[in-house]
Amino acid sequence: MCRCGSPLLVSYDIEGAKEALTKRGLSRRVKSLWRYHELLPLVHPENGVSLGEGMTPLLTARRSGEELGLRRLFIKDEGVLPTGTFKARGAAVGVSKAKELGVRAIAMPTNGNAGAAWSAYAARAGIECYIGMPKDAPSVTMAECLAYGAHLFLVDGHINQVGRMIERACSEGSAYNVSTLREPYRVEGKKTMGFEVSEQLGWRNPDVVVYPTGGGVGLIGVHKAMQELAELGWTQGDMPRFVAVQSAGCAPVVEAWRKGARECIPWENPKTVAFGINVPKPLGDFLILESLYDSRGCAVAVEDGEILKAQRTLGAKEGLFTCPEGASTLAALNRLVSEGWIDRDETVVLLNTGSGIKYPETVRVEVPLYRADQSVTFDRSLDSA
Ligand SMILES: *Cc1c(COP(=O)(O)O)cnc(C)c1O
Repeated sequence: MCRCGSPLLVSYDIEGAKEALTKRGLSRRVKSLWRYHELLPLVHPENGVSLGEGMTPLLTARRSGEELGLRRLFIKDEGVLPTGTFKARGAAVGVSKAKELGVRAIAMPTNGNAGAAWSAYAARAGIECYIGMPKDAPSVTMAECLAYGAHLFLVDGHINQVGRMIERACSEGSAYNVSTLREPYRVEGKKTMGFEVSEQLGWRNPDVVVYPTGGGVGLIGVHKAMQELAELGWTQGDMPRFVAVQSAGCAPVVEAWRKGARECIPWENPKTVAFGINVPKPLGDFLILESLYDSRGCAVAVEDGEILKAQRTLGAKEGLFTCPEGASTLAALNRLVSEGWIDRDETVVLLNTGSGIKYPETVRVEVPLYRADQSVTFDRSLDSA
């Protein structure tokens, strides 16, 4: 972080990277985010701490696309990453860089998933890890932090409040504060989603990228990735239009975007099932909004009910049990298509940021219970419903 409190971003010698990095050479490289190491911040790639992260599938969403009349709808499934969310990307690069810099202990506030991911990578790097979480965060992620040997504490408050506690505790130099955008390397990890989407689409930019936005690191990162690829001269087409999706229960970015503002006003009483996007005031709000304005994108708020409905659609139509954050992108897409903001022949990428397996409470298990000596019949008419 800059002394003035603003985030710092990493920039690269793109001309130099052009020599070492070629499209053909890339196809022979390791199938993880480290394949783009010239555009990642490690001085020595062998300092990378890896659990096999990256190169997640870009799936066609044929059945849900057909329903919307979209021919080219894709879902980037980040649920298959280590610890089940795309937070693994930020953690892999962030922890690797911390290790390269000789950091011995890290600390962070989290709504759950980042804590799980950073705990795992810190364990692998041999770095002490201190995690603070709102007490209402998904309990699976608490168990994960403990399983990875992190020091966990819970707070009766929201993530920005936990952040201030971490900041005070770190000010004595006891641990390196790795909160969202306090250090510049997490964005670098998350931007690799953008590299992969481009590579998987044959270096043709999608028209629209839909992203569930909390702290905004993913959105800022993917936007940065697309700019770097354009500088490399690798991609064809305009910059994609970025869509920031939030829950109506916590939508500071949407509110700011509607007003054409450059930063967010802190959201009062934030509340949503999509815990990963429950961020009342992102530190990088001005960068998120800049990405939206710069790309002629937009911001959309969807109700939790719409999110859970979209989650069921993705499960039943695509075989994907997504996290509610990921499902929010389909809920937003429904709106954008019906408003005509998206054309039916445009290429659209939804980012599913994590697996629904981490949110078991989002699906209520209400099914018939039989005695073992009873017989069951299958009503085939249900199949075609
Ligand atoms: C953290 C998180 C988000 C939001 O990501 P940002 O990069 O902070 O905007 C979305 N989905 C899930 C599952 C998350 O854990």
